[in-house]
Amino acid sequence: MAIITQRVKGTEDILPKDSYKWQFIEEILRKEAKYYGFKEIRTPVFEHTELFCRSVGDTTDVVQKEMYTFVTKGDVSITLRPEGTAGAARALLENALHNDGLPVKVDYITSCYRYEKAEKGRLREFHQFGMEVYGAALPVADAELICCVDSIFKRLGIKNIKLELNSIGCPTCRAKYQEALREYFGAYKSQLCGTCLSRLQKNPMRLLDCKSEVCSKIAEKAPTVLEYLCEECKEHFDSVKSMLDSAGIEYNVNPNIVRGLDYYTKTVFEFVSTDLDSKVTVCGGGRYDGLIEELGGPHLPSLGYAIGLERLLMIMEAQGIEIPKPSSCDIYIVGLGDKAQLKAFELVKSVRAASLTAESDIVGRGLKAQMKYANKIGAKYTMVIGDDEISNNKAKLRNMLSGEEKEISINDNFLEEFDNIYINEYIDVLV
Ligand code: ATP
Ligand code: MG
Repeated sequence: MAIITQRVKGTEDILPKDSYKWQFIEEILRKEAKYYGFKEIRTPVFEHTELFCRSVGDTTDVVQKEMYTFVTKGDVSITLRPEGTAGAARALLENALHNDGLPVKVDYITSCYRYEKAEKGRLREFHQFGMEVYGAALPVADAELICCVDSIFKRLGIKNIKLELNSIGCPTCRAKYQEALREYFGAYKSQLCGTCLSRLQKNPMRLLDCKSEVCSKIAEKAPTVLEYLCEECKEHFDSVKSMLDSAGIEYNVNPNIVRGLDYYTKTVFEFVSTDLDSKVTVCGGGRYDGLIEELGGPHLPSLGYAIGLERLLMIMEAQGIEIPKPSSCDIYIVGLGDKAQLKAFELVKSVRAASLTAESDIVGRGLKAQMKYANKIGAKYTMVIGDDEISNNKAKLRNMLSGEEKEISINDNFLEEFDNIYINEYIDVLV
């Protein structure tokens, strides 16, 4: 019989053979966040739709084209989170985290949902690791955050990642810039795509982010935001750059980086990999000084970034970075006959209680098939118990790598003796 359905387009299963890669990456990300003094936040997978319209911005691709929005039985409009910043900001305000002292620093690993054309590195359900800092106006906060991303890539062994940096100013300097953009793009009205035409008046900076060939060609010669920065924004940007210089972090100032979300101000950045067939943005972030106020909170200069985990893995695979495989089984114990099976059941339980991985048969295989299985799961040791072993209280412990066999007690001393052998033969090798 055929299975009744398949996974939804643009979604992926993370299978047992690959999940260790995710666990490895997640551990590095979480640890790095901890070193920088961040604490994890977990927010719901769905929020009221207006949260995203207001924060991500209602002239963005995400809000206009990509959201999974539905009306509940209670007639409430709900949206699956397309990114992590909005939910974290809502949670900050709702729980008044900012009243407990500033800055507030949170990190998260979340699934995100965007109705996009599914292709390599672009999914409809994907995962982000993000970090957000609330209540930090100084340029050093921007520099620290960028250092943190840089450090994550280094710890993962990723090379050839370029940092693209820009400042998109504050509402003061942006007003003049937007006027200049309206004037520039206004001259090309007949060539612009429908989406760009509709955004020209309300949010002309969005036109710089358009992926259509014609519009992006026109955008190449558009005035750049850097020419319009006010004194404060310019100083802020200069400080960020000089701190990155002193930290030895290379960057390329790219005035075309405007980011796809409306809430950004001042510093914006992307980390881009050029190793794959095409340029892949693996991380995007920046400062969003106005967002918290926009959501009804106090003026709270803030900033954050997100790394796409599927793209991160894609790059690591393309660069041939090996993720260490965890040992899946320390010992496999075969019990032949009822008594020995019970003994095997007891022994694996005691090994597990001592925080090692142990397995014995639960499907009714014979001796040969069990040994084959032990090999397949990469057991470091095997041990066969039959009637003789039970009456002697001793069995042979076989090191599957060297083939060497050692006699070992299978009474109360088993765990201690096994532990000693294991430590000698494996841990010593590792250190
Ligand atoms: P893009 O320009 O590629 O559409 P974006 O600007 O929409 O990216 P952000 O909203 O900044 O992306 O999200 C941050 C990161 O999340 C991206 O750099 C990317 O790694 C990842 N990401 C975004 N959309 C997707 C997606 N549909 N599938 C997989 N990863 C994604
Ligand atoms: Mg996008």
